[in-house]
Amino acid sequence: MRFGGFVNWILAPQGYNAPAFTQNAMSEQSIFTRIVSGEIPCYKVYEDECTFAFLDINPVRPGHVLIVPKIEIDQFFEVPEPYYSAVFATAKKLAPAIREAVGSVRIATVIAGFDVPHFHYHLIPADSLSEIDFSKTKKIEPAEMEKIRAKIASRVD
Ligand code: 5GP
Repeated sequence: MRFGGFVNWILAPQGYNAPAFTQNAMSEQSIFTRIVSGEIPCYKVYEDECTFAFLDINPVRPGHVLIVPKIEIDQFFEVPEPYYSAVFATAKKLAPAIREAVGSVRIATVIAGFDVPHFHYHLIPADSLSEIDFSKTKKIEPAEMEKIRAKIASRVD
């Protein structure tokens, strides 16, 4: 495996329910790999061969989405193709859908990764820069999360 220690798990493109894995036996799966494989539930808005997108459980604002590549790599600059470009292609697809679904001026994007060491691209609806404040996240009731999820998912081609 060319990426050695950086790669813990690779999910097969058709991945969600019947993933094929390349495993580094020394490593634990990330919470996001477990979400992609269906082991942990999520509010999924989109999935394709290389990426998986779902609502952030602690949103900065309603409609806050995370896009992850179906390969477990920590730092974004170490994510190989085709996964790297696929994340940004998915962002381009989802941003207008999120903006329309929740009504925001812009879709801000953030790459941080201080919490989960599996690259994820935050898409955050915002009306001003001051709204992008990770110290002011707010949980949303499951029924409302499902409504937001459905609104976004129904607007994605
Ligand atoms: P970061 O690693 O970029 O600092 O942030 C990780 C993000 O993942 C946080 O915004 C956090 O709310 C989100 N997150 C962490 N665990 C889960 C989870 O189990 N489900 C979902 N949907 N989001 C999660």
